[in-house]
Amino acid sequence: MNFLSKITGSFSTPSAGNPTVAMVEAAYKHHGLDFRYLNCEVLPKDLAAAVMGARAMNWVGFNCSLPHKVEVIQYLDGLGESAALMGAVNCVVLRDGKYIGENTDGKGFLQSLKAVVSPSGKNVALLGAGGAARAIAVELALENVSRITIVNRDQKRGESLVDLLNSKTKSKAEFKLWNSKYEVPSDVDILVNATSIGMAPDIDARINIDINSIKAEVVVADVIVNPPMTNLLKDAQSKGCKIVDGLGMVINQAVLGIKYWTGEVVDPVVMRKRLLEVL
Ligand code: NDP
Repeated sequence: MNFLSKITGSFSTPSAGNPTVAMVEAAYKHHGLDFRYLNCEVLPKDLAAAVMGARAMNWVGFNCSLPHKVEVIQYLDGLGESAALMGAVNCVVLRDGKYIGENTDGKGFLQSLKAVVSPSGKNVALLGAGGAARAIAVELALENVSRITIVNRDQKRGESLVDLLNSKTKSKAEFKLWNSKYEVPSDVDILVNATSIGMAPDIDARINIDINSIKAEVVVADVIVNPPMTNLLKDAQSKGCKIVDGLGMVINQAVLGIKYWTGEVVDPVVMRKRLLEVL
């Protein structure tokens, strides 16, 4: 790295590791981009200082992971459309000297989904109402899906997402309390798991859903990155459904972040290979 290399990175709280670093750096290297991606462990109390530091050092952008996705907004100069709707930012971009907050979580998911099915006009059942579900629901709504059913244990969280979708987008949303085995309605076209069920190390956990209610025509997607092949996806595949794994989502959002920061469209195959090596 020479002195003029451009700095990008991630503000996350102390974690066991950040596979995004290896994936993004692999793309920079492959394409000969004179950029670096640094993972910085930032405690919530230090977030304002960290953003000031990034400004002082002319970072061209950075990712924010939990718990900074909402708090960071007050330190930025503006927001992209979906980030404003969601009230959450995972990717900050330096544009004309201003830090603009974007949300690439849902956009990355949408790109993966679109490789298999066009969501416009479709009925979607979305399991979960946390950060990932919120990002996915807003992007699906902006893509003009016909109906989104938010299926969640916590009623308040689920209804707050439904209210957001109904008040701020043209898509119709409804809430289904998840307190028993979920039967997927016969008019559902796309089923998405946006909960953390099935994520390592709890890979044997089963989602409380009636697998027999999923028809072969339904496209089934999962946000879990590790392992990419969850029990839900295995079950769906055995029923003949098309499936979409969480790896595509995480790779596509990194591709988009790099495009925002560097202007370059990088090769997702290189990133997927490196991600699988480090997972
Ligand atoms: P949150 O903590 O914000 O939300 C978790 C959601 O999962 C909530 O809706 C919660 O329900 C639900 N949930 C958790 N356990 C259960 C359970 N046993 N039964 C029913 N519902 C449950 O997390 P995030 O939304 O940030 O992340 C969710 C998953 O998405 C994680 O595994 C994360 O790694 C993954 N992710 C993947 C990305 C990718 O690029 N592939 C990007 C971002 C996240 P309740 O509200 O009732 O508590």
